[in-house]
Amino acid sequence: MIRSEHVIELAYLVATALFVLSLKWMSSPTTARRGVRAGEVGMLLAIAGTLLHHEIVDYTWIAIALVLGTIIGVPLGRVQMTAVPQRTALSHAFGALCVTLVGTAEFYLKTPDVPQFMMAVLSLEVILGSLTFTGSLMAAGKLQEVLPQRPITYKGQNLVNLSLLGFTLCIAAFLVYHPEQKYLFPLLVLIPLAFGVMMIIPIGGADMPTVISLLNSYAGLSAAAMGFVLDSKLLIVAGALDGASGLILSINMSKAMNRSFTNVLFGAFGQEQASAAGAEQGRSVKNATAEEAAAILAAANSVVVIPGYGMAVAQAQHKVRELFDALTKRGVDVKFGIHPVAGRIPGHMNVLLAEADIPYDKLLDMDEINGDFPQTDVALVIGANDVTNPAARNDPSSPIYGMPILDVDKARTVMVIKRGMSPGFAGIDNPLYYLDQTLMLFGDARSFVGSLVRELSGS
Ligand code: NDP
Repeated sequence: MIRSEHVIELAYLVATALFVLSLKWMSSPTTARRGVRAGEVGMLLAIAGTLLHHEIVDYTWIAIALVLGTIIGVPLGRVQMTAVPQRTALSHAFGALCVTLVGTAEFYLKTPDVPQFMMAVLSLEVILGSLTFTGSLMAAGKLQEVLPQRPITYKGQNLVNLSLLGFTLCIAAFLVYHPEQKYLFPLLVLIPLAFGVMMIIPIGGADMPTVISLLNSYAGLSAAAMGFVLDSKLLIVAGALDGASGLILSINMSKAMNRSFTNVLFGAFGQEQASAAGAEQGRSVKNATAEEAAAILAAANSVVVIPGYGMAVAQAQHKVRELFDALTKRGVDVKFGIHPVAGRIPGHMNVLLAEADIPYDKLLDMDEINGDFPQTDVALVIGANDVTNPAARNDPSSPIYGMPILDVDKARTVMVIKRGMSPGFAGIDNPLYYLDQTLMLFGDARSFVGSLVRELSGS
């Protein structure tokens, strides 16, 4: 006879496999959509399996929670692409709050008979859960600009933070041996809640996406710890996957910005420091009209398009597709140079260009395209700035010195679509704009690319 436990085990097993496949598929743009679907079905199976547990005697509170979760979740799923980092931070905050509450409930239900191993993972669960909750809220607030983006620092800050963490770990260690000393448990929640705030205030807005993926990793690890406490293999696997993938992503992002992990966490790098570098005053730029730019593009043999944050803000990807079609029809070889941190989230440009059905084989990573620039007729920069800044290569005093960039300055002609001379995220001037071969095409990315398409199609 098939018993409900068997159905639950099977649902969990399939969900676990789907989570693993989901991550695998999400690593390539061609299979990413399948990966998202696999993750969704896996989560549905996990929830359905959980609801079948025979320990559940009343579904009222569960139904209320489902309705509330849906009311909060649906609008969260519809935010603009550019707001995804702060939206993701909020999801981590909710997940971490849940982990903390479950851990707290388990402690009070189980004490004083908590085995030492269980008390150790339970402590880890609530410590990571609490600091991830406030840390993620702070990160979301900074990115949404409801909190100041600049780093807030004071003397001895790292020492204070590390002492707080050390003190909490001492309490946790004491509770492992003396779980009956219940009065100490609230400190395992309260100190990390404060630590989460203290940990984020010295980190500037520009580093927030890296920090968010690190918080993702913490949320995953706390969920894995919760899996041990609740004896759920599914939670252990899902949490470990989340923890590991978040950590790998943070490391990759740090590498793409040429920052060490400790520098992101303790370096207080951010907009204020960067903008202090100042704009290069008194130098002039050459600008061109859509008609002139279209004529140059039409005469080119090879064009490399470099998209950036401005293309995302202007939602210009569909017009960029039209430009790609118009140039390809004229026999121009058009490719796209993608910088790993162009935009505001990893993979931002790939997702937008995939949405506009630009063929994947035309999207080349920074390392693949950089060797092509000296033979490229036109590098067309659309709303990208920092990722093209040659100061990162040539100027040791630049705050972004050492960050790998797209070598667009090596192309025969460079054309840059942006609205004015405002800096990018790092808040610094870009010497690319003052080069002899550079033409500035001032305007909103969507309307300017639209004008180029009209000129090229002769209407
Ligand atoms: P930048 O932020 O450097 O520059 C964007 C440019 O777009 C600006 O110069 C702006 O100039 C222009 N722009 C804005 N709106 C429009 C519009 N409507 N039409 C045309 N242009 C517009 O972007 P990049 O993509 O080059 O670089 C990303 C930055 O974000 C890097 O510094 C990176 O380190 C940072 N970052 C990225 C992360 C990621 O995961 N992708 C994570 C963390 C940080 P103007 O206002 O004059 O139009």
